[in-house]
Amino acid sequence: MLPDFLRPLVLSGPSGVGKSTLLRRLLDEFPDRFGFSVSHTTRAARPGEEDGKQYHFVPRETFLQLKENGAFIETAEFSGNFYGTSFQTVRQVHDRGQRCILDIEAQGVRQIKATSLNPIYCFISPPSLKILRERLQGRGTESEASVQKRLATALKEIEYAKQPGIHDLVIVNDDLERAYRLFKRIALGEAANGDQLPPLDDDV
Ligand code: ADP
Ligand code: 5GP
Repeated sequence: MLPDFLRPLVLSGPSGVGKSTLLRRLLDEFPDRFGFSVSHTTRAARPGEEDGKQYHFVPRETFLQLKENGAFIETAEFSGNFYGTSFQTVRQVHDRGQRCILDIEAQGVRQIKATSLNPIYCFISPPSLKILRERLQGRGTESEASVQKRLATALKEIEYAKQPGIHDLVIVNDDLERAYRLFKRIALGEAANGDQLPPLDDDV
């Protein structure tokens, strides 16, 4: 069995909570220790995103072909697009001796639980639903319709996360500096405990 600091780390949490922000900081600070699991997606690249860096951006036909060929550990349909983690991506990170970090949504978490990957599951939580909506809108990457769709999905992800035993750890991304300090210690295997999940029962 892998020691905790080498077990893959699965980050999940509602869209807009700050997963990529936390991850980017970690990968910038420790480029050799951690490797990001670059997923495949059929969604369009956002300004600034590069193929092969944040995602492998592929057409739907390519994605479906890869899926049929058994290339993916898990896949999901999210907000009208497909996303998937390939075996090859995770293997490459592992072969470099790095801790592999996955950023995936809840359908993927469910599927990973049925594999032998044995990761640590870490849920990134917003301090409140109101703040989640503000971040999603403030990022400026989504249309209002897409924000609404992502918020509706967020409510389902949060209900799933509230069930006991789904995640090993919670990080509340309230103050970015505080959340990053905790995330870093968890990723380095220096902290075994996270935050308490907030009630998240305010009006969106
Ligand atoms: P995700 O990857 O979970 O969808 P992002 O990392 O893109 O989310 O963050 C969504 C938005 O929230 C971005 O504009 C980001 O700059 C901002 N953000 C992230 N963390 C915080 C924080 N702790 N406080 C305030 N804004 C934040
Ligand atoms: P975004 O379009 O904002 O980059 O990502 C939307 C959602 O898809 C996020 O919750 C993100 O965690 C999730 N996601 C990204 N890659 C994958 C993947 O390979 N598998 C699954 N299941 N979810 C993913």
